[in-house]
This record gives sequence, structure tokens and C-alpha cells, in this order.
Amino acid sequence: MTQKWKKSTKAVRSGYKPEVGDPQVLPLVQSTTYNYDDPERLADIFDLKEEGHIYSRISNPTVAAFAEKINDLEGGAAALATSSGQAATTIALLNICQQGQHILAAANLYGGTYTLLSSTLKKYGIEVTFVDPESSVEEIINKARPETRLVFAETISNPSLNVLDFEKFSNVAKEIDVPLIIDNTFPTPILCNPLEHGADIVLHSATKYIDGHARAVGGVIVDGGSFNWDNGKYPELTEPDPTYNGVRYVERFGDEAYIIKARANLLRDLGATLSPFNAFLLNLGSETLELRMERHSSNTQELAEFLEEHQKVNWVNYPGLKSSDKYHLTEKYLPDGASGILTFGVKGGIESAKKLLTSFDLTSLVIHVGDARTSILHPATTTHKQLGPEELKESGVSEDMLRVSVGIENIEDIIEDFDQALAKI
Ligand SMILES: *Cc1c(COP(=O)(O)O)cnc(C)c1O
Repeated sequence: MTQKWKKSTKAVRSGYKPEVGDPQVLPLVQSTTYNYDDPERLADIFDLKEEGHIYSRISNPTVAAFAEKINDLEGGAAALATSSGQAATTIALLNICQQGQHILAAANLYGGTYTLLSSTLKKYGIEVTFVDPESSVEEIINKARPETRLVFAETISNPSLNVLDFEKFSNVAKEIDVPLIIDNTFPTPILCNPLEHGADIVLHSATKYIDGHARAVGGVIVDGGSFNWDNGKYPELTEPDPTYNGVRYVERFGDEAYIIKARANLLRDLGATLSPFNAFLLNLGSETLELRMERHSSNTQELAEFLEEHQKVNWVNYPGLKSSDKYHLTEKYLPDGASGILTFGVKGGIESAKKLLTSFDLTSLVIHVGDARTSILHPATTTHKQLGPEELKESGVSEDMLRVSVGIENIEDIIEDFDQALAKI
């Protein structure tokens, strides 16, 4: 259920509503099981005839409250929390795509998502075609097949920082009558709500900004509830499920069908469940999400402008820069800020880049984004090391690229740190 509140209020208040005498803040329910006195009721919950928690692989009150908050922030119909962002992507795709079927995906993707699609899913008989996001609607549709079951892309791609042309990709998805699934990790629901721009399903690595403090790994899938599954392509949602007493998800659950099936089938069978403790931490982090995204965005804008003027810097990529070739899309889809990641290349190539990485005082060398602490890494030798030269190019990673996740420290301290480190190369 979507609240009328503004996002900053939702970030603090949605998901958990204490009754009289209840704890004021979301309690950590660290229990695998739940107590009942009526076997009939337990049987009904098991058969999905009644709502209730029975076992924490399937659902848990702390996890449910956290998922509901993200659902509310995205303006969705229902949400499912998962053990990681990767689990969210895997479940979101496998829920409606199986052996012999096909996925259309934008080419520049997070490294883990790229290998999931290009290697792991392939081994299970799911084919993926990667498309250049600059292609036209017609060119992309030409790569669709009768077995295509979804279109996948990231709002801001990691680490090439391409802002998605939602209009184009949602037109493709509508034309071939499949859902558009969006990884909205970088903007978070604060800076962009893909469901408002034609996406059908949105997912997050909550590990990044939603947590925001580098404490817990987790993911969330939100379904907008508006895609019409009854078009003959998704019998798993419209026909009886023999593993659940023949339930027909769409008929029984309406706009929650996709999420309930994901929980009933894939959380049950794959077990990629978010732990209650991690949900507790992610929820705590999410309370300040709006404030932090504002600061991450303004800090990154200032650092990007500083680097752009620096004589030892070859190029800077940040969607919030007027010099970015995606600036028109930033204005359209990210009017409140372009999030906290920028990339740049230093003069002197890979050797200078390596030297720079060891010259910081404040900025940390870590494999992470979205933390309150400013950090930096070299994608070509870390997150994207498994990709060959062609694939690197496809995912928009150059050899000299350095990726900075700008934190929420004072911007003067951050700029000073970059200034002194650049002076050493
Ligand atoms: C980190 C990340 C993921 C994977 O999330 P995990 O929580 O690390 O499993 C997926 N997509 C994007 C854009 C990411 O940055």
C-alpha cells in the first residue's frame, strides 16, 4: 500500500506502524519460526489462503517491514527482500524466464549481472542478447525473439554511468509485450522512480545507498503491479501451480501475483532470503536515505567540477556535469541529483592511476559504492577483471578509468584529499 507522504517522510516512517504499547522502532524479530494454536489456520497459511509468518526462509516481520518501506518509496504494489542484490536480480529474472527463453539486456551492466546473464543463466538454457543502449527502438526490437520474456537495464549503469533512456526502453518492452525490469541501485528510490517512467519491475542492491554505511548485504524487488501477465507468455503466473495446490497467481493475487510467486516458488526453493538482522540494519540505514542522497549528489557534483578543471585529469564522467553526453537524460530522469558515483582518467595512464590509488589520506581503496565514506577503485583490475577487452569495451570500462564513490564527509576535505593525491603523480 502506497502512503501519501513525501519520500523523506516515507524513508523514516513507512513499513512499520507501532500499535499502542508496541516498540516505537522496528523490532528485530530474530526467530526462525512462529507460534500457532490452530492447525487449520496453519494449514491455510501454508496454502497461501491466509497471510501469516510460518518460517523465516519465506517471510519474517522485520524483513517484511523493510521490504514494504522500499515498496512504498518506489510506489510499487508489492516487494520482496532478498539476501543480496545479485539474489534480487536472479529471482526477478527466473520468476518469469526459463530454459529455452530469452532476455534482452542493455550492454553496460554491473559486472556481477553481466556474468550472471552471459555465463550462469546461459548454462541453464536462458539466452541473453546484449544491446547497445544507443541503438534505436527498431534496432533493439529487431533483436527480440518470440521467446523473449523481459527487457533488463540499469537506471545509471555501473560503472559507465550511462543514464537510461527510459522512454526508448519502455517503448521496446511495450512493443514486444514483456516487462521492463530496472536495476535502480545507483539513484535509489529517492532520486528516481522507474515505475513512473514505464518500468514494470524495479530492483535494488540494498547493500549500497539504502544501507549507506557498508554494514549489510541485501536486495529488494519491487513490482509495480501494472504489467498484464495474461498475454499467453507467462503460464507460470496464469496457469495452476502444481507445487502450490494448483493456485493461479494472477487470478488469486492480482497485482501482487509476481511477488507472491517469487516468494512462494523461488525463496522457498532457492533460499536466498534476507536475514532479519540485515533487514534491521538496512532499515536503520534507509531512515536517512533522502538526506544522504542529497549530500552524496552535491558532493559528487562539486568533486566532478573540481576534477574537470584539474590539469592532471584527462576526462571526467558524471551524469550531473553539463559536459556529459547524458546530461539531457539526467535533467529528465534525475532532476534532484545524479547520485554519488563518478569516474575519471588521469594523465599518464595506468601507471599514474596506480600511483594515485596509494596517495590518498582520506579516500579509501575498497570494492564498494554507496558508503558514507569516500572510496575509489580501478574497475579494469578488480570488479571487471573477468571481462575480456571486447567485453570491457561493451560494459564501458576503459583501462585508465578510476571509479569514485563520493561519501558524505565535508566536501572541502574530500577535494583537499584529491588535490594532494594528484599533486603526487
Ligand atoms: C552491487 C550491485 C549489484 C549487486 O548487489 P549485491 O548486493 O552486491 O549482491 C547489482 N547491481 C548494481 C548496480 C550494483 O551496484
